[in-house]
Amino acid sequence: MASGFEPKPLDAWTPVCRPDAPDREPWSPFDANRPVHPSFGPPVTIHVLGAGVAGLTTALRLVEAGREVVVHEAAPTLGQTAASWLAGGMLAPYCEAATADPSIVEPGLAGIEFWAGVTSVKRAGTLVLAAARDSGDLRQFAARTQGHETVDAGTIEALEPDLAGRFRQGLFYRGEAHLDPRRALAAMASHLTQSGGTIRFGEAADSGDFAGEVVVDCRGLAATSPELRGVRGEMVLLRSREVRLSRPVRLLHPRWPIYVVPREEGVFMVGATMIESDRAGAISLRSAVELLSAAFALHPAFAEAEVIETGAACRPAFPDNLPRVTREGRVVTFTGLFRHGFLLSPSCSAKAAAMAQDALETA
Ligand SMILES: Cc1cc2nc3c(=O)[nH]c(=O)nc-3n(C[C@H](O)[C@H](O)[C@H](O)COP(=O)(O)OP(=O)(O)OC[C@H]3O[C@@H](n4cnc5c(N)ncnc54)[C@H](O)[C@@H]3O)c2cc1C
Repeated sequence: MASGFEPKPLDAWTPVCRPDAPDREPWSPFDANRPVHPSFGPPVTIHVLGAGVAGLTTALRLVEAGREVVVHEAAPTLGQTAASWLAGGMLAPYCEAATADPSIVEPGLAGIEFWAGVTSVKRAGTLVLAAARDSGDLRQFAARTQGHETVDAGTIEALEPDLAGRFRQGLFYRGEAHLDPRRALAAMASHLTQSGGTIRFGEAADSGDFAGEVVVDCRGLAATSPELRGVRGEMVLLRSREVRLSRPVRLLHPRWPIYVVPREEGVFMVGATMIESDRAGAISLRSAVELLSAAFALHPAFAEAEVIETGAACRPAFPDNLPRVTREGRVVTFTGLFRHGFLLSPSCSAKAAAMAQDALETA
């Protein structure tokens, strides 16, 4: 550990970066000089497998608690094969509860505070819209969710001037927020290494590789867990000079329910498909057409946008679509974040880190 590092108890977790800290510092991949295996005595290092949002939030909590942490990431660079890299970055517990267990709301709201200490978080809420002919869908969505207010055309225009005159009714979830997932991952990786942790890229690992040592398996869909399945999500990044949005906008469309999340410099993430499949590979033509059509339905000016990136990844999910943090001896497994990696990692990582510390102390 870096000298002068003050371990903090997990329940006294404070954000690892100042809210105003720059989160695009030059990114140093890893400190190759740190030892991976102790040469003798009881284990001191906790090995975290996977540098997605689950692995990095857990590793950060462990470093903050004064533990020696090595993250082993199979990909050669941050995010290259992580579902986390393709996420929308919506911190939308109320909206997500429309189709998920309501137990996600409370930890999801707490997660917004966690992220505000790590990276730039925009607390501008979420706007949910539907065309007039789909007003029934809007009523259903409202009935299934909390934390919203009904908005008319005037309020929609006040919130998002570029959508003026396009929608007559919507729902506004004032308490929701969003972030840029790539900046969040980079900020965590940077802070982790600056705080004495290590990330080893290009190092595929399995819990069996560290006999007698404590491991936290955060390999997403690759984690060892029998009931885990993949739910493929495809996305498109657009750049538009014509459209400006301040917050994520969800469009309730009978065939293509999508969301558009604004990023910096005119970039918009359009997502995401939900396909029961663990197939990797590029986005399909059909999904691209559907996502782009829905973006066009939200605002025709997206027709002139540049398509700057497309991507697909498999969300790790259990049958109930809720994450699990489990321990078997010295191996803690944290996966199953489904659609809620950024939303729920703050709370789940606290549990994973606590379990790993218990495992270390009883090893
Ligand atoms: C299109 C899309 C949009 C999404 N939008 C949102 C959103 O708006 N908000 C939200 O909260 N969530 C969202 N999600 C869900 C979120 O992205 C996932 O829940 C989350 O990324 C899962 O994180 P993870 O760390 O478990 O897995 P991953 O991010 O997949 O990370 C696992 C890591 O383990 C590594 N790995 C694999 N095998 C090995 C090995 N043998 N050794 C070492 N490393 C290994 C992989 O390379 C990878 O880096 C979205 C997902 C998708 C696909």
